[in-house]
Amino acid sequence: MSETERSIFSRIIAREIPATIVAETDTLIAFEDIAPQAPVHLLVVPKTESYRNVAELASGDPGLMAEMVALAQQLATERAGGDFRLVFNTGPSAGQTVFHVHAHVLAGPLGEGTLA
Ligand code: 5GP
Repeated sequence: MSETERSIFSRIIAREIPATIVAETDTLIAFEDIAPQAPVHLLVVPKTESYRNVAELASGDPGLMAEMVALAQQLATERAGGDFRLVFNTGPSAGQTVFHVHAHVLAGPLGEGTLA
């Protein structure tokens, strides 16, 4: 992938643009969404750019997908009592805007800025 094709999330991972990073492992990074849709709205993102969406990730590296779920659970436990929604927008007409696989971790009391 050329420099111009790198995703915005790769630039966050490389600390080229700022983000509020809340967790990092060898394979994943998690940071606050810039436009939160819930009291807790984090993005969990694999460091690799190999997968554009969750379907590619699930077939290509299911273990990495399981790591994403475990980190989402950990962050939701730390920040919102443990309950959470995990959203993978997949494809432009489903609302995906960044084609570097990522999980939205949404948590917090329903009715306080949450998606329906
Ligand atoms: P998608 O629409 O692809 O499922 O989700 C992309 C998400 O990335 C959106 O919720 C959007 O608010 C978030 N986002 C886009 N650009 C940035 C950025 O520069 N920093 C952060 N923290 N989040 C971003």
